This record gives sequence, structure tokens and C-alpha cells, in this order.
Amino acid sequence: MHIVIVDSSRVVLKIVSGLLEPRGHVVHSFTDSAEALAFLSNQPEVRVLITSLQVRPLSGLELCWSARLLAEERRPLYVITMSSARNERNLAEALDSGADDFIDKPPGAEELHARLRAAERLTTLQENLIRLAETDPLSGILNRRAFFAQANTGADRAGNHGRLSMVLADIDHFKRINDEHGHDVGDLAIQAVAKLIATEGKAGRLGGEEFALLLPETGLEAAEAVARRLCLRVRDLRIRGARGPVTLTCSFGVSTWVEGDSVEALMKRADIALYEAKTGGRDRVVSAATDLILARTA
Ligand code: GH3
Ligand code: MG
Ligand code: MG
Repeated sequence: MHIVIVDSSRVVLKIVSGLLEPRGHVVHSFTDSAEALAFLSNQPEVRVLITSLQVRPLSGLELCWSARLLAEERRPLYVITMSSARNERNLAEALDSGADDFIDKPPGAEELHARLRAAERLTTLQENLIRLAETDPLSGILNRRAFFAQANTGADRAGNHGRLSMVLADIDHFKRINDEHGHDVGDLAIQAVAKLIATEGKAGRLGGEEFALLLPETGLEAAEAVARRLCLRVRDLRIRGARGPVTLTCSFGVSTWVEGDSVEALMKRADIALYEAKTGGRDRVVSAATDLILARTA
């Protein structure tokens, strides 16, 4: 596991690292608690924070609080405080500040390893729960809620001037596939389309046979090219049916981020474009953004 240790003494850091590294852990040591927190924020692979209570500039308890806030953002993180003055008040304060566990300083090897095994069990469990909560069980791609969360994060990154595009896809005449070939074949079609769309970027299943694709750093033309490629590749899919291979098509709506935009508005424009693709004959790509950008700035 990746472990961050914070203590004002390099000697203590060396002792604890000396216990952890031979067991295969990757240790990141800090004497400065603010630097440790910045590192934690940027390194999602860190699973455990071990901090002394007497650290600076953030106290150990403040660091626990901040780490707990990070962990609440869908991030598995186990926090252990370390203090040579182990007394009930310290323990209660640490746990109230968001620590999961408390060890003596310097820790005994066996105790430390046992506590890290507990940390590994708990963070693995958390990781599995997070994945389950974010994944659509049929298709294995993001579910609607997780897709919106990712899209909002992408939009925050893009800011007002960055590029971000959205592609919506909906399987054409899907009801017919279900009616003619059975619900199981319909499910296989959903899985195949989801898998295909996920090859192009962050993909989510918004519901039924409707999917969304988030394309960071991508302008309108490039996003249209992605949608056209997907449109062709969907035509090539062959779903195994009882009476031989089943073919299908999808319609696509594309939109791109404009200044002052929101994820909801971006998606709404893609949805309008998708509707146009449907009414225009299906199995095609329609881009909404250009007209609407012109309409907004006119
Ligand atoms: P259009 O070309 O206009 O999109 O027509 P359509 O038949 O694809 O669209 P419509 O939205 O009317 O039908 C979607 C169907 O998808 C209705 C529903 O029974 C089916 N469906 C929704 N979720 C699932 C699922 O998880 N598995 C299967 N097999 N079918 C589903
Ligand atoms: Mg459909
Ligand atoms: Mg639909």
C-alpha cells in the first residue's frame, strides 16, 4: 500500500519507514503536515495516513480532519494517529477528529503490521463499495449519477475557457430488438454498445438504451468525428441471437462546452441534437452546439 507518514522527527520517520518498506509498502515521509496534505490530495493511490499529533503547521488533529474530508469524496483512506503520550483523552480526540485508529510512538512492529492489515481490509471494502455505487451493473460502465459527478468534475477542470464535449447515444428501435429477439439479446446489445462507447472516453449509461460520453480537451469537430466513428462501429456489431447475428444502429447527439455553460445545459443541447438525429432518420450524428452557440452570441 502507499502510506504517508508525518512526524516532526526524521528519526521517527526513518524508524517507521524501516518497519514498512521491507513489507512491500511504498512510504512517503513528511516532516511538514501541510506538504503531506497537499501530497495526499494529489495522490489518490495513498491508502493510509499515519500522523503524529505534534506536527506543524497543521496539528495532527487538523490533518486528520482534512484527510477525513478528502476521504469523504469517494476516496478510500485510513487514518492512524501516533503519539508517545497515549492516554484516553488523546485517543478520544483523535478518533473524534476523524482518525480510524491510534498507535504508540514509536510503534511496535507486530502491532503496526496488524493495524495495517485492518486498514487494508477496510480500504479494499470501501473501494469495492465505491465501485459498486458508481457502476451500472448490466454494462459495467458508469451509472447515471456517477457520470454526472464525473462530468461536473470535468467541467470544473475545463473552466470557462477549456474544451469539453459530450456525446449522447441511443440505440435505434431498441424495442423491436427486445420484441423480435428477446430481452436477453437486448441486454447483450446494451453491453456491446456500452463497451464500444467506453473505448472513446468516460462513458455512462444514463438509463435503458441511452449512453453518454464525456470528451475532455475535445472541441466540437473532434467530438463529431468520435461520434461518426462510433456510429460506423455500431453498424458493424453482431449480437448473438437465437436465429443468428443481430445487427443494430445508434443515433448520436453532440454538444460542446461554451462560456458560462453547465453540465445540464451541455447535456440538454446534446439531447436536442439526438432528438434531431432520431427524427432525421436515425443511424446518424447531429451536432447541436454550433447553431446554439450562434444563437446565444447573436
Ligand atoms: P428509438 O429509435 O426512438 O430510440 O426507439 P426505441 O425503441 O429504441 O426507444 P424507446 O425508448 O421507445 O424504447 C426503449 C426500450 O428499452 C423500452 C424498454 O423496454 C427497453 N429497455 C430499457 N432498459 C432495458 C434493459 O436493461 N434491457 C433491455 N433488454 N431492454 C431495456
Ligand atoms: Mg432507442
Ligand atoms: Mg431511449
